[in-house]
Amino acid sequence: MSAAAGVEAAGVEKAAVLLSEARDVTLLAHVQPDADALGSTLALGIALRRRGATVRVSFGAPDHMPESLRPLDVLGLVVPAGEVPMAPELLVACDAAEPARLGVLADRLGGASRSVMIDHHRSNPGFGDVQVLDPTADATVVLVHEVLVAMGVEIDTDIARCLYAGLVTDTRSFRFAGPASHRLAAELVETGMDTEALVRPIMDEHPHAWFAALAGALQRCTLEPELGFVHTTVPLADVTRFRIEEVDSVIDVIRGATEAEVAAVLKEIGERRWSVSLRSKNAVDVAAVAGALGGGGHRAAAGFTWTGTSDDLLAAIRAELAKNAV
Ligand code: 5GP
Ligand code: MN
Repeated sequence: MSAAAGVEAAGVEKAAVLLSEARDVTLLAHVQPDADALGSTLALGIALRRRGATVRVSFGAPDHMPESLRPLDVLGLVVPAGEVPMAPELLVACDAAEPARLGVLADRLGGASRSVMIDHHRSNPGFGDVQVLDPTADATVVLVHEVLVAMGVEIDTDIARCLYAGLVTDTRSFRFAGPASHRLAAELVETGMDTEALVRPIMDEHPHAWFAALAGALQRCTLEPELGFVHTTVPLADVTRFRIEEVDSVIDVIRGATEAEVAAVLKEIGERRWSVSLRSKNAVDVAAVAGALGGGGHRAAAGFTWTGTSDDLLAAIRAELAKNAV
């Protein structure tokens, strides 16, 4: 066993003990939570609630649950950020690569009596009293599953759906999944959950009105063949009008450009404010690009936020791509 895996195994045991003993648990996902972050917090939350603990799940922004992930919250555990106590008894941060990814709730880390961090980002500097950090895990839900097993929790269909949602999305429908994730998926499916009914709204469905906006984004999509770089924008009007499910689907279309190694979508979130999604096929480490520009992520999927013009933003990405060229 590698040293990293040993550290992680100890973390899993410690996290399981803390969670098993806790009477009041606050579980936090990162801002703009995805299926891995919410699947992780809700899987733990459901298990703890069923054991009688007081449980709340929350995230710093936005002020509502992503619509497609609402069916995961079968026990109604999600509360607005404002209802998270300033000094939680036990705080658990899931899928957050750094405290800042908790947004306005990052200050609760300092106020918490005890804290547990569960994450799989290589860039994670480590935080929290107990750390379950394993960059080799395909998704944070994989680590949450280990903690649940260490706690002796029986994985029922409600918990399985939460874990599967994180697994299928973070692995791009199992294309980035190792054998352990495929085995875990089999175990989750064996609980009797309906994978298609769970995944379709999360990964495939969009309102018809979105298609015109998507067409606009594709028309603006620009290829820079010398850099192997493809990019487009989603204007504020579309970011405001459509759900995050729609806006975040653009990157999955343009990343397919045969000529490009790296894809970027610049999402306008305010006056000269941009949320940027980066994807690479493999040769370029976009986590390094995002890291240099104030964000982070994984080798093949990363992001950051930026203030300024889109021209300056593209120039900054180009400069980083040139540095990271292979
Ligand atoms: P997305 O493009 O889906 O918003 O983000 C892709 C990945 O990049 C996420 O899984 C997350 O790990 C990471 N990421 C996105 N934005 C940020 C950011 O501002 N800071 C850090 N550290 N990671 C980010
Ligand atoms: Mn994740």
